[in-house]
Amino acid sequence: MTSTKYIFVTGGVTSSLGKGIIAASLAKLLQAQGYRVTIQKLDPYINVDPGTLNPYEHGECYVTEDGAETDLDLGHYERFLNVPTSQANNVTTGRIYQSVIEKERRGEFLGKTVQVVPHITDEIKERIQILGNSGDYDIVITEIGGTVGDIESLPYIEAVRQLRWDLGENNGIVVHLTLVPYLSAAGELKTKPTQHSVKTLMESGIQADILVCRTEHDLPSDLRRKLALFCNVKEEAVIQSIDASTIYDVPNLMLEEGLDKVVLKKLALQSTEPDINRWNAFLNRHKNPKTEVTIGLIGKYVELQDSYKSILEAFIHAGAENEVKVTIESVHSEYLNSDNIKLKLAHLDGVLVAPGFGERGIEGKIDAVKFVRENNIPFLGICLGMQMAVIEFARNVLKIEGADSIEMNPETKNPVINLMEEQKSITDKGGTMRLGAWACNLKLGSLVRDIYKAETIKERHRHRYEFNSEYKAQIEKAGMIATGLNPDTGLVEIVEVPEHPWFIGVQYHPEYKSTVANPHPLFVAFVKAALKYKSKQKSVTMA
Ligand code: GLN
Repeated sequence: MTSTKYIFVTGGVTSSLGKGIIAASLAKLLQAQGYRVTIQKLDPYINVDPGTLNPYEHGECYVTEDGAETDLDLGHYERFLNVPTSQANNVTTGRIYQSVIEKERRGEFLGKTVQVVPHITDEIKERIQILGNSGDYDIVITEIGGTVGDIESLPYIEAVRQLRWDLGENNGIVVHLTLVPYLSAAGELKTKPTQHSVKTLMESGIQADILVCRTEHDLPSDLRRKLALFCNVKEEAVIQSIDASTIYDVPNLMLEEGLDKVVLKKLALQSTEPDINRWNAFLNRHKNPKTEVTIGLIGKYVELQDSYKSILEAFIHAGAENEVKVTIESVHSEYLNSDNIKLKLAHLDGVLVAPGFGERGIEGKIDAVKFVRENNIPFLGICLGMQMAVIEFARNVLKIEGADSIEMNPETKNPVINLMEEQKSITDKGGTMRLGAWACNLKLGSLVRDIYKAETIKERHRHRYEFNSEYKAQIEKAGMIATGLNPDTGLVEIVEVPEHPWFIGVQYHPEYKSTVANPHPLFVAFVKAALKYKSKQKSVTMA
């Protein structure tokens, strides 16, 4: 057994309390004290990964360097810690069962009845300890998805109970996140739901060490005392987590409450003052913008903000870097057409056409690209957004009739976006796209080369279709240039229109790599371009 310490974060009373943000904030504070920390999320659903889930169901699917399709909380972990996560950082019930069943088929349990306890719980314990046993981390924070008391979470809670026992005192602690609701009719904050949820956890044999209480109002000291008394924790271990105006305030709020100190004390680790100067410098820029730009986000899942989580966060990082407030105006691509396009897009300082799958809303995306290309509005197309830019260019500049993507129109005579060769024999949907980080060479003299200030980059992917190289020569001749190519396969990863002030389409997802400490250069440059466009527009109007 290694000397790695474990923190388990559970949730009670209700879902959506923000366990991921609390875990990431705690990790940030521990990292800022010099500890090597990582965070893992255990999800209680049966899908092997969230890659097969509709964004309406589960929000964005986040992709790691090693190509795992994961929960969006991993995006928060990376954005807060600036440390990459991997497949090991997200485990689902589906993956646990898949692995146990495969072992059973191989005969690894020969002669035995395979059961939830001990086989499933052992598998969970092993998955939790993979990160700790790597020797790369002093502390592993494991967030248990769902709410205590859920049928689905039971094996996880039991695994935590056993692991805490195995690890021994001061090596594994439980931080329980609950809700302290305010009843306006009574004018009171209520502790009972927290008491019940701590009790539910105890029924599974786990005494919470620390309570983090989500609340809309400050918790007075008598109420903290009451919670401590009835939930068997020290008063200093009752931590208030009050609603914040931005998730990036939460590490400071947790610092004020002393969460890092109590955690380290319980883990018998030394505690010093965390150095969060860089974090606070970012916050300061984020909260005191000098000017503002409005960027349109053209997508078909815009009703649910979580669908484009990493894109929205990347704009926050890029905005702070430029000391600009970036206002995002969501535009539903399904309702966008040539009649209303001017009304919806003309006032914007930049337009991003979002990633996506399937036919719904794509004509609106193509109309949007046409409008911004013809009107010199800064444009960034991501994945499907890049593919739509190629289709638009082929249809409207090259006049290739019916140019399309095989994804939307398998019969098209002009598949400017084609199914990738290696995808042609694949029938399974789960985990079979081109995933994870791939290298890309940037063309000398291109806008991207100037933005990245590098010859070769590595970005993360999640797609099945590609720019059809058979059309490359004619598309380039007409003014859309392939400025980023995969060095091994020649696959087109980036297109630009040099005649346009700022027009970039990328087959990969830059948003996954933007963090507080490292805002993504493409987003930073895009916001800068929007700012330039805005000031130019103003001078034109004023002239
Ligand atoms: N549907 C497109 C493809 O599979 C784009 C995917 C995406 O936007 N992530 O290639």
